[in-house]
Amino acid sequence: MSLHQAAGSPVIELRGAGLTYPGPPPVEALQPCHLTVGRGEFVTIVGPSGAGKSTLLNIIGLLDIPTSGSYLLDGLDTGMLREADRTSLRGQRIGFVFQSFHLLPHRTACENVALTLVYQGVGRKERMARASRTLARVGLEHRVDALPTTLSGGERQRVAIARPLVGQPSLLLCDEPTGNLDTATTASLLGLLDELHSDGMTIVVITHDLAVAARGERTISIRDGVARERVPV
Ligand code: ADP
Repeated sequence: MSLHQAAGSPVIELRGAGLTYPGPPPVEALQPCHLTVGRGEFVTIVGPSGAGKSTLLNIIGLLDIPTSGSYLLDGLDTGMLREADRTSLRGQRIGFVFQSFHLLPHRTACENVALTLVYQGVGRKERMARASRTLARVGLEHRVDALPTTLSGGERQRVAIARPLVGQPSLLLCDEPTGNLDTATTASLLGLLDELHSDGMTIVVITHDLAVAARGERTISIRDGVARERVPV
């Protein structure tokens, strides 16, 4: 199966995709929904706890397979993939940013970021050069050799964003990226996402914070497994 990107296709296309956990009892975590996200869009997904946000993120991130409908990533119908191809596609196209940063404590910021490229088979010298450039892109050129314990919460989150970015993903998926951050650090992080968006990155952010949600060009609201696009007033 070719994993090449179809020219001009949306990054994300959910066609009646939904997910019911088998149970018992079965839980319809996401009712069949349609969602298209074009290249370079910044979309936020908002909803209360238990609404289905993680379920949607896991489908988009190729961590879960929808039990109904289909999901096309970069024009490729992911339902047709073997498990090994799904894993490879996830590694190549999707960058994840989580609330807890998952940085390796005994590795420098640069080494943490460079790790992404180990899985892509890039040699050490080039890995470190690209990681260093990516850290500069997120405003951390002066902290490349710092250990995570010596970084502030906001700096650690920037490293956690640089880590997927270095692999040049099609899509940056952020799950509650501001959850542990104070107001000033949240503002700075949102500024960074705005910059990445201006540079053409496709970004999907899941949040329960309406102020964060408002930064997206489009907001999808989920409640009780039903996803709806919020129409701006
Ligand atoms: P959110 O991320 O908005 O908090 P989730 O997507 O995690 O919501 O969960 C949506 C619904 O699916 C909830 O009712 C949750 O209890 C249920 N759920 C999540 N994971 C599982 C699972 N593995 N098995 C059964 N039900 C689940």
